[in-house]
Amino acid sequence: MIASFGVTEAHGGSDVANIKTRAVQDGDDFIISGTKMFSTNAGTALHGFSTVVAITDPELGPKGLSSFVVPVGTPGFSVGKPSNKIGWRFADSVELYLDDVRIPARNMIGNRGDGLKQVLSVLSIGRILVGATGLGLARRAIDLAKSYGRDRELFGASILKHQGWLFH
Ligand SMILES: Cc1cc2nc3c(=O)[nH]c(=O)nc-3n(C[C@H](O)[C@H](O)[C@H](O)COP(=O)(O)OP(=O)(O)OC[C@H]3O[C@@H](n4cnc5c(N)ncnc54)[C@H](O)[C@@H]3O)c2cc1C
Repeated sequence: MIASFGVTEAHGGSDVANIKTRAVQDGDDFIISGTKMFSTNAGTALHGFSTVVAITDPELGPKGLSSFVVPVGTPGFSVGKPSNKIGWRFADSVELYLDDVRIPARNMIGNRGDGLKQVLSVLSIGRILVGATGLGLARRAIDLAKSYGRDRELFGASILKHQGWLFH
């Protein structure tokens, strides 16, 4: 089973506390509504559940966020099509739609209000990984461009020797 991480929203990326997804308690359940984006691996056949971060206590600001396990197949929970990206194609990035998704309160991860702390502890490692991968992809792209520039000949010389390429 592959899990996904449902945090980022259109207006809540670096500014995680600015998410809009709400989780409202109803007896022993929570009802979650909102839309997430860039969720890695949420589009694979083995996708089993998502850990979704939502606002449980809006009056507490950043301390009013909590995380929940939302199993695939829960009514109202669906995923979009993978985005067509220019890089990082080995893993998909998809939107998660939560339309009045009812889950038991026991699906809350840790304590009510711990959401932001939990997210930042995951993202601190994740952002280093994303940065390192971006650097590796850029380095490989430069290596491929240099090798093509050396091999490709035009007007009697490899194109790397022409001024336009040398500027780059
Ligand atoms: C490969 C990949 C996998 C991902 N997987 C997941 C996932 O599984 N689940 C999930 O929920 N999200 C995921 N994300 C989303 C990721 O968490 C967000 O992209 C990230 O938090 C940044 O948010 P943003 O894209 O909205 O950029 P923004 O927050 O809009 O940032 C845009 C730019 O502004 C800069 N910036 C932001 N704030 C400041 C500031 N205060 N001062 C100066 N500059 C600033 C940023 O550095 C960036 O260059 C993934 C992203 C990537 C790239």
